[in-house]
Amino acid sequence: MPRSNRRSFLKFIAAGSVMSSAALAPARVFGQSSPHVVIIGGGTGGATAAKYLKMGDPTIRVTVIEANEVYHRCYGSNEVLTGHVSMEDISITYDALRGKYGVEFIFDTVTEVNPDTRAITLKSGDKVQYDRLIVSPGIDFIWDGTEGYSEEIANAEMPHSWKAGTQTRLLKSQIDAMPDNGTMIIVPPVNPYRCPPGPYERASLLAERFMAEKPNAKILILDPKDGFAKDKPFMLGWNRLYGFQIPHTKMGGMPDTVTEFENPGMIEWVGSDAGGKVEAVDAAAMTVTTEFGDTFHGDVINFIPPQKAAKLAFDMDLVEGNWCPINHLTMESTRHPNIHVIGDSCVADVMPKSGYSANTQAKVVAAQILHLLHEEEPEEPTWSNVCFSRVSSDYGVSVGGIYRLDHESGKIISTAGSGGVSPLDSSHQFNRLEALYQEAWMENFVADSFG
Ligand SMILES: Cc1cc2nc3c(=O)[nH]c(=O)nc-3n(C[C@H](O)[C@H](O)[C@H](O)COP(=O)(O)OP(=O)(O)OC[C@H]3O[C@@H](n4cnc5c(N)ncnc54)[C@H](O)[C@@H]3O)c2cc1C
Repeated sequence: MPRSNRRSFLKFIAAGSVMSSAALAPARVFGQSSPHVVIIGGGTGGATAAKYLKMGDPTIRVTVIEANEVYHRCYGSNEVLTGHVSMEDISITYDALRGKYGVEFIFDTVTEVNPDTRAITLKSGDKVQYDRLIVSPGIDFIWDGTEGYSEEIANAEMPHSWKAGTQTRLLKSQIDAMPDNGTMIIVPPVNPYRCPPGPYERASLLAERFMAEKPNAKILILDPKDGFAKDKPFMLGWNRLYGFQIPHTKMGGMPDTVTEFENPGMIEWVGSDAGGKVEAVDAAAMTVTTEFGDTFHGDVINFIPPQKAAKLAFDMDLVEGNWCPINHLTMESTRHPNIHVIGDSCVADVMPKSGYSANTQAKVVAAQILHLLHEEEPEEPTWSNVCFSRVSSDYGVSVGGIYRLDHESGKIISTAGSGGVSPLDSSHQFNRLEALYQEAWMENFVADSFG
């Protein structure tokens, strides 16, 4: 490690240790008996961290504590709504992590963690001891803030389907039953939230389905934001495929081939500047009302609520505001030592909350924990993210980035000259290739995280 980085490293280690308690028993390192790394949450971040810890050092003991024996991945869940794939296709078991890498699993819910004694309490009453703990518990929802909306309404009339599982099935059944001339309303959340392009990919794939099955249907997106991830490539695709009228505010950089439509096509997007922010819902009438006072009726209403770190992170006192602050060099919580937070729950600055981000954060944390356990210095971290979305089955768009640690600010920043978004002068072949890349990415990514 260069001398200047070493100085920064020492500064960050010191910063990350502010909460060290004098009463804390020293955690085991290698050379004593084998240390025990415990991971709470066997989703994308947790599963990847477990695998890469065991790949890095097979002698280390790694235990994942996960609430469910089967993981339903969110990536691919929009295709369940269109009927292209089934719930079984997005279901993952932990057989490979157990059989191939020797990761231990406990299927239970964590109810409490004592950072001083390093003891985890499970719902069953069992206790588990750790030397280092990784927490990757995902997200939870903010239920208040919209008049008439609640968790009960999300579970019955207006599913979010933003955690794959029961909600995915419920939303699919509502979409299946929607009349041919029905309206589906999608309400995306404010930033930051899990999978920034996800609501717009959902609208795209459902438009493709409706074109074939319910050609008189409408998809109305009422957005509290004035833009979204990859908005121009999405809108260009909607213009080309679904008769979408691109708003004037989004015309900059669009090719001459864009078509002007008199009426909105199958998809209509209303951003915040045009009054898209929904302020109230009425589940009995199946309506939403915007801040401009307009009321819209939906046959299906997919209300995706604002988000925050998972409940466990709050219970463990890892949160400031809505998310978990970390020392980005080691991804260790700045609130409690020996506890590392990755995935959607953590503050990762410019990185989006995505499976890909959780996966690269998991690889960084696995490497740094192995260094710390061997009493070595952490290495210089880098992270990446590529996010493919489908505008239709054979039309893909993407955004990517490479990230590094800015030692002065302690923040994760974009590496200059890296990354980019799909071009707006793309040919049909280009977008077709991006759709194929997305398919290949999905297969490779699932294998990398869980296989
Ligand atoms: C519709 C949709 C499409 C998406 N598409 C993409 C995509 O194409 N590409 C991409 O990169 N990302 C995509 N994502 C985002 C991706 O799914 C998430 O960013 C990713 O799953 C985050 O990983 P995580 O480990 O933080 O959380 P999760 O994967 O949600 O894992 C959290 C785990 O913690 C467990 N847990 C929580 N609390 C406890 C507790 N107390 N005790 C025990 N276990 C607990 C949960 O059961 C869960 O298994 C998409 C998301 C959605 C909603």
